[in-house]
Order: sequence, then structure tokens, then C-alpha cells
Amino acid sequence: MPRPDNHPVVTAYIGLGSNLADPVRQVRSAFEALQQIPQTVVRQCSSLYLSSPMGPTDQPDYINAVVALETLLEPHALLTELQAIESAQGRTRGVRWGARTLDLDLLVYGKEMIADEELTVPHPGLPGRAFVLYPLQEIEPNLEIPGMGMLAVLVMHCPKEGLQRYE
Ligand code: ATP
Ligand code: MG
Ligand code: MG
Repeated sequence: MPRPDNHPVVTAYIGLGSNLADPVRQVRSAFEALQQIPQTVVRQCSSLYLSSPMGPTDQPDYINAVVALETLLEPHALLTELQAIESAQGRTRGVRWGARTLDLDLLVYGKEMIADEELTVPHPGLPGRAFVLYPLQEIEPNLEIPGMGMLAVLVMHCPKEGLQRYE
């Protein structure tokens, strides 16, 4: 559902990750799919990054990126669109943090803080995840994350470890 007319457009940030079935192709294909979400435009895409897996280590390395969207969709409707794109690209859910063709996480949705059964925003994993913080910093260096503070400070406290620019 679109938000009522008196709501401004909201800027949302999406974290992308893939480590199966040609991850670079998966992430580029997701960039295209994000542009097709109704009531939404893609404002910026970060570079691609290469990261070591979080959780189970017996899986391939990941390609990650972050995208900035402007949207009129409310956050749960946006999550539903993200999950439809994951499914269309063959995402299945097995082991927690196991290998996947595509993960699309809603990192930040304007200034909102949400915590219900379907959605926690800002994404609670943000502070500890270099593969999200560094691409986010590339596209929005001055971002303040609701309830978590300045992105630049989070980045300072999160070692880059194995994270590399892929291109
Ligand atoms: P993590 O969320 O720690 O990165 P994951 O991305 O592997 O792990 P998923 O299997 O993609 O986890 O998602 C599990 C559930 O998380 C989804 O069913 C969704 O409802 C919920 N969820 C809660 N908050 C968010 C969010 N901000 N973005 C995406 N999914 C979320
Ligand atoms: Mg995730
Ligand atoms: Mg996810």
C-alpha cells in the first residue's frame, strides 16, 4: 500500500549478499529487480565487495553491496517486495546464515525504529557487520542511524578484516 499523500518519500537502505550461483550476477540482477519495485526508485548502488562468510565457515565467500532507495511503500510492504525478489532469485532458507543465492535486508527506513515479528529496523546486525557498514559509508558517509548513532562512528569501531572492494 502506498503511504498517504501527506507522507514524504522515505529513503531506505538495503543490504545485499550472495554466495551461490554466480554471486556477482545475483547482485547485479538484484540491482535491476530493485528498480522494478512499485512506488520506489533506486537512488544509488555501492560498489561490490567481497567478504568472508559470517556463521558457518564451510561456505563460499560473499559478494555484498548496499542500495539507497526512495520509496512511498510502508516498511512491511517494502520487506514483502524484497522477499519476492529473493524468492525469484532462488533463495531458500536452511541453516541460519548458511549459503544463499540472495539476501536482501532492510537496513534503515528513514528515521523509523521498528521491532515486531516480521521486521526489526534499523537492522540489528548493522553495528558488527563490516560488509554492510563500509558499502553504506561509500554511498552515505554522513548517515545517522536511528538508535545507533553516526555511521562514521560505527565504522570506526568495526574492523574491516577481510572485506575487499571487488571492482
Ligand atoms: P540476518 O537478518 O541476521 O542478516 P538473514 O538475513 O540470513 O539473517 P533471513 O533468513 O533473510 O535472515 O530473514 C529471516 C527473517 O528476518 C525474515 O523472515 C524477516 O521477517 C526477518 N527480518 C526482521 N527484520 C528484518 C530486516 N530488517 N530485513 C530483512 N528481514 C528482516
Ligand atoms: Mg542478512
Ligand atoms: Mg535476510
